[in-house]
Amino acid sequence: MRRKLTIALVAHDHRKADMVEWVIFNSDFLSLHRLVCTGTTGGLVQEALRKEGVHPEITRMNSGPMGGDAEIAAMVVRKEIDLAVFLIDDLNAQPHEADIMMLLRQCRVHNVPIACNRYSADLMITSTLWDDESYIPSPPRYEKYER
Ligand code: PGA
Repeated sequence: MRRKLTIALVAHDHRKADMVEWVIFNSDFLSLHRLVCTGTTGGLVQEALRKEGVHPEITRMNSGPMGGDAEIAAMVVRKEIDLAVFLIDDLNAQPHEADIMMLLRQCRVHNVPIACNRYSADLMITSTLWDDESYIPSPPRYEKYER
């Protein structure tokens, strides 16, 4: 892939092992891009990639329950995120449910691809559309609300 992407990575506690496996599996790809993570996820991702000998630029926001998802959602609104991998724990309630919903919603509103499982994430990062300059993503039509 020619373009350097900014990729958000967030995993809830019961999904962190999945995230670590996913970043190791895709370490060559991730080494070429910028990563933005919630706090704890970022630490685990950095450590896993370091062991693979890969040192991409990683920005660690606050931990999710302390506002990390909200910070990443704000980046989505500012068009600073190209792709998000968000491994949500669907089997346990989270204290920051509102922030989780906000991140998902802002990705939908701003047409940012968001993968909530590893299979989707693998499909998204291997898409040839990233380098297809003739491809223009069609955003959701919210003309009435746009400034
Ligand atoms: P964490 O946050 O990476 O700091 O654990 C993730 C989340 O709970 O949204």
